[in-house]
Amino acid sequence: MRNATVTDIDARDGSFIVETGGEAPMRFQAGCVINSAGLSANQIARTIRGLDARHVPPLYFAKGNYVTVSGRTPFERLIYPMPNEAGLGVHFTLDMGGQVKFGPDVEWIQKIDYAVDPQRAASFYAAIRAYWPTLPDDALQPAYAGIRPKLSGPRQPAADFVIQGRAAHGMAGLVNLFGIESPGLTASLAIAEKVAKMPG
Ligand SMILES: Cc1cc2nc3c(=O)[nH]c(=O)nc-3n(C[C@H](O)[C@H](O)[C@H](O)COP(=O)(O)OP(=O)(O)OC[C@H]3O[C@@H](n4cnc5c(N)ncnc54)[C@H](O)[C@@H]3O)c2cc1C
Repeated sequence: MRNATVTDIDARDGSFIVETGGEAPMRFQAGCVINSAGLSANQIARTIRGLDARHVPPLYFAKGNYVTVSGRTPFERLIYPMPNEAGLGVHFTLDMGGQVKFGPDVEWIQKIDYAVDPQRAASFYAAIRAYWPTLPDDALQPAYAGIRPKLSGPRQPAADFVIQGRAAHGMAGLVNLFGIESPGLTASLAIAEKVAKMPG
């Protein structure tokens, strides 16, 4: 089912009763549940009746803002500086359509909000000038943002993805994917293969 927000999951007699909300709410039985809801995965897991709350790690939101630049850049290839404590560092990306962007930075937030604060552009200048010293003043404009679902918070050591099946939580048919942040997209096929092979 597409465009159906899962609102409730009840583990019962070896299967799951799943409820979805929205305009056409539904209730159905499922033999297995793969919870890959990204930023909402931890919150969904907490609603699964029958799953012990100690198996659901805390989640932290690390927003990544991007800025774009007016005028030409001197680069023809992607530029990746050394990673920082919570991200890959403000890198330069040139997409297939020739659009350029710098980012993402790291902004710890409490609530999901994708708006880019124009004030943050100011903090990009120093990071970008480390590899483009002649970046002109006032050249950067806010672009867009994404939010990383992190299992480690500010000043904590980086945590790996958590792919949690029956061996971890004892519940047959349930796989939780927590903290699938970068490079989650690059690793998506490997993650899918691992999940598919997990014992039910
Ligand atoms: C700024 C930034 C830069 C990144 N850069 C890279 C990179 O360079 N390389 C890389 O590999 N990865 C990168 N990532 C990470 C990558 O984007 C994620 O790892 C990947 O998108 C995670 O995929 P996912 O399917 O687990 O989660 P998502 O893509 O978040 O998908 C979760 C899905 O669950 C749905 N959902 C949520 N709640 C519910 C609900 N209650 N009911 C039903 N459905 C629900 C959502 O609508 C969504 O479709 C970056 C992430 C960010 C934020």
